[in-house]
Amino acid sequence: MELSYQSTRGKEANVTASQAILKGLAADGGLFMPCFIPRLDKTMKELSTLTYQETAYEVMKLFLNDYTEEELKGCINSAYDSKFDTEEIAPLAKADGAYYLELYHGSTIAFKDMALSILPHLMTVAAKKNQVKNKIVILTATSGDTGKAAMAGFADVEGTEIIVFYPKNGVSRVQELQMVTQKGTNTHVAAIHGNFDDAQTGVKKIFGDKEFAAQLEKKGYQLSSANSINIGRLVPQVVYYVYAYGKLLSGGEISDGERINVAVPTGNFGNILAAYLAKQMGVPIEKLICASNENKVLYDFFQSGTYDRNRDFILTSSPSMDILISSNLERLIYLSTGCDAEENAALMKELSETGSYTVTPAMKKFMEDFIGGFAGEAENQRTIKDLFDRTGYLIDTHTGVASSVYHQYKEQSKDETKTVIASTASPYKFSGSVLEALEGEKSAEDEFKIIDRLSNVSGIFIPQAVEEIRTAPVLHQTECDVDNMKETVMGFLA
Ligand SMILES: *Cc1c(COP(=O)(O)O)cnc(C)c1O
Repeated sequence: MELSYQSTRGKEANVTASQAILKGLAADGGLFMPCFIPRLDKTMKELSTLTYQETAYEVMKLFLNDYTEEELKGCINSAYDSKFDTEEIAPLAKADGAYYLELYHGSTIAFKDMALSILPHLMTVAAKKNQVKNKIVILTATSGDTGKAAMAGFADVEGTEIIVFYPKNGVSRVQELQMVTQKGTNTHVAAIHGNFDDAQTGVKKIFGDKEFAAQLEKKGYQLSSANSINIGRLVPQVVYYVYAYGKLLSGGEISDGERINVAVPTGNFGNILAAYLAKQMGVPIEKLICASNENKVLYDFFQSGTYDRNRDFILTSSPSMDILISSNLERLIYLSTGCDAEENAALMKELSETGSYTVTPAMKKFMEDFIGGFAGEAENQRTIKDLFDRTGYLIDTHTGVASSVYHQYKEQSKDETKTVIASTASPYKFSGSVLEALEGEKSAEDEFKIIDRLSNVSGIFIPQAVEEIRTAPVLHQTECDVDNMKETVMGFLA
């Protein structure tokens, strides 16, 4: 059977991979998803000898089946190159018995680079394949990391404009500086007076606005999304789970066929869904440990079967996980209904109208490989400090949440299965919080003083991406209200 994409809400079907990447979100508000997950056509043993780029091809060719071999390899080689500060692209570090999969060696030192360094290439090829004449406007809401990674990926890519909305007081100082200093004549960023969910809801509304789309069309523009709802974000993320298993195998850390667990610091549910897809493709993964911070909607969901966003939004030291609506969960819900778009659409309608929904016992059973957990601020700090004190290995606050939840799970379940923990950001991206974890108190110093102190204390070199923003001029200063996002978009394109 030929793999194709349909909307999780049923109004669009038989969409090719390249069309799905161009559209981002389906017209009915659903997400594009294939109804079956392709199986890897090489053994893990064969895959374990491949480079990151070769692994990427073996995984992505199965999902992006209307790209030619030449097109796909071209995209892969343009993405995973010297922008990354290690040839391994995603190295595995063993510390304290667990394996930290470092997904932060790209240009913005967080895991969004893994997908956003290739998405612009996938998209420009898709535009050519589908004879698109319009300029593509990438519209994105960010909780901090996506925005910069998307701007860096799309900066000066011909035929594209990139517009990013971020919550004014919801990102770290380094994240904000990274965004407002971004170069490129086609890059635009606005701080909104609201939180991440406001930004994401506003962007979704714009995508659903047919009148606005017609206005843009007249000016020669069409919208697309670089958010993690784009299938072109999700598919490249599957790659590093396949690669990590291969590295464990070739490094003699596991035997062929040995099952591993994966722990992921989760926000929008994209990264952990990619791990789930890797499992469905045939990677021997047992449990998927879904780690949340105090915004523990997903923990409650896996516990009770009820998703309930009606609660206070909490700002934490892991801001990229401060999310109450995890968009990519919809893909798992859809799969759990046996791809019943009607049933999924009804639940999503309930979510948007009442803020909650409950899945059936059969759907809950379908998701039993997922283990939900959460960690508060004090526990997160303790985990970061403990790990550093005992091993000299330093992790950021998001990875700290995953590491905390992994330890909780291990203690409670006595499960000794080897575990890969997705390490999603360099500790320097969240220096203030990481230093606070190490020293036990918050520093009132300037961000760059903190960075220098963190380097002194940890002995770990400061990444180039941080050095660059020390002196870079601020190029973007737009702010806007939640109700003014459409006008802001038009202003940028005028
Ligand atoms: C985006 C992000 C996450 C959350 O990933 P999702 O795919 O949205 O679940 C976790 N950590 C960091 C550092 C991130 O940037």
